Amino acid sequence: MKLAYSDVKKTAAKLKFRTQAFIDGKFVNAAAGKTYTSINPATGQPITQIAACDSTDVDLAVKAARRAFERGVWSKRSPAERKHVLLKLADLLEKHLEEIALLDCLDAGKPITDCLTIDAPDTVHCFRWHAEAVDKEYEKMAPTGPGNVAMIVREPLGVIGAILPWNFPVQMGAWKLGPILATGNSVVVKPARQTSLSLLRLAELAAEAGLPEGVLNVIPGSGSIIGAALCKHMDVDAAAFTGSTEVGRELLNYSAQSNLKRIVLELGGKNPQLVLEDAGDLDDIARQAVNCVFWNMGENCSSGSRLIVHRKLKDKLLAKMLEVSQEWIVGDPLDPATKVGPMIEESHLNTVLGYIESGKREGAKLVLGGGRTLQKTGGFFVSPTIFDEVKPAMKIAREEIFGPVLSVLTFDQEEDGIAMANDTCYGLTASVYTQDLSRAHRAARALRAGTVSVNCFSEGDATTPFGGFKQSGFYGRDKSIFAHYQYTELKTIWMQLA
Ligand code: NAD
Repeated sequence: MKLAYSDVKKTAAKLKFRTQAFIDGKFVNAAAGKTYTSINPATGQPITQIAACDSTDVDLAVKAARRAFERGVWSKRSPAERKHVLLKLADLLEKHLEEIALLDCLDAGKPITDCLTIDAPDTVHCFRWHAEAVDKEYEKMAPTGPGNVAMIVREPLGVIGAILPWNFPVQMGAWKLGPILATGNSVVVKPARQTSLSLLRLAELAAEAGLPEGVLNVIPGSGSIIGAALCKHMDVDAAAFTGSTEVGRELLNYSAQSNLKRIVLELGGKNPQLVLEDAGDLDDIARQAVNCVFWNMGENCSSGSRLIVHRKLKDKLLAKMLEVSQEWIVGDPLDPATKVGPMIEESHLNTVLGYIESGKREGAKLVLGGGRTLQKTGGFFVSPTIFDEVKPAMKIAREEIFGPVLSVLTFDQEEDGIAMANDTCYGLTASVYTQDLSRAHRAARALRAGTVSVNCFSEGDATTPFGGFKQSGFYGRDKSIFAHYQYTELKTIWMQLA
């Protein structure tokens, strides 16, 4: 489908926003009546005012979720009944795909083409996948002697707090909510302060699909206020978090300080793209490598922000990448031709520009971009940027930048390339390029990351778990049946036979 920029702008101008908190099946103002301004990062202008919840709202939402859980309106429905409601939700999301895509485009500055072809369809698919999985999983009987029967069953945890990032607002919502709801839990969601609009609309559609009141609550507001209150709450059984390693660390403290709730964390990354000496088609690798770092403006936990390439291939590959980079048009996210939108907010723009300055200062060679662009729009745009001759000790090679900035490093021996790839406190994703099957296997095993892609950049699909090693996560795995397990408790029922 070919979209016209003018049509997208017209549709966006007619959007209606849900701006109140969604608690116990109703849209309500924050208890204290406060609001905050949501800003469009492409213009720097306000989009709307949103309820600024505080700990009172957290408590109301947790109480509603607990009531729903105890009444069993969802937790005790059969898996097939839950499937039915979640499939209906997926259908409604699909029906309103354009609206959902536009909400994330405006709120997060994500290119509309990506929102329409990746985020929104993946959200629909994610709900369908978890819905379909839930009545196909069997529980277990233990191999006891004839005098006993022992069943090993899984039960929902109870009330879960889900804390979301701003980079894939609705899609990360689905990655959490799909398995949380499919397994019968109630949930209180805190979207990122910058991007609450699509989650509030999703809650409304969930109610329309038949999700009972209180099962899904959405409370917008500040992370340090309501995120912390939710994670410290004594009646929340688990917190599922996607965001920075820094805040993830805090969540473990909150759990220790409160009721030892289960914490599952999906955190940051400084992901390597390892190009071995025998890598195949360099045109294809150039496309994949550029996509891997500039897609979603580099505001992506799986961004391949370190290209670690064999010295013999470096110049040729880099030349091709510079050519391909010209296709990464920076512009208004509402324009279907745009591939790179703005940074999420001004403070993050300044952080990314700070990293670019540090790369220049530390002696890396700037070969593309290197600064702010489209300033007249009022938006927070950064030009796609590539540094060559980066050394492993440089800040741009070590820290997660979360912007469209690539560091190119070189190696001579395969072991050194792998060691360089693993030389990070993170371990979320990695790519390796080689034509040799044995090398590919060896490297895939040696790379310390939750997802390793061979001859491509991929996060897998709904059937595969996604989460990180080392400081990229803490027991957290989104997607696949493994995500169901982390939102359930194992129970043994041991029976003595007469
Ligand atoms: P962030 O950690 O600043 O915020 C994430 C969420 O936590 C937001 O909802 C925020 O309001 C909330 N929060 C902030 N302070 C809090 C506190 N003290 N207590 C509780 N909640 C708090 O991260 P971000 O800037 O929104 O997202 C970017 C980060 O997320 C990057 O590091 C990125 O790599 C990571 N990320 C990881 C994955 C993954 O699957 N591993 C996916 C997307 C993003």
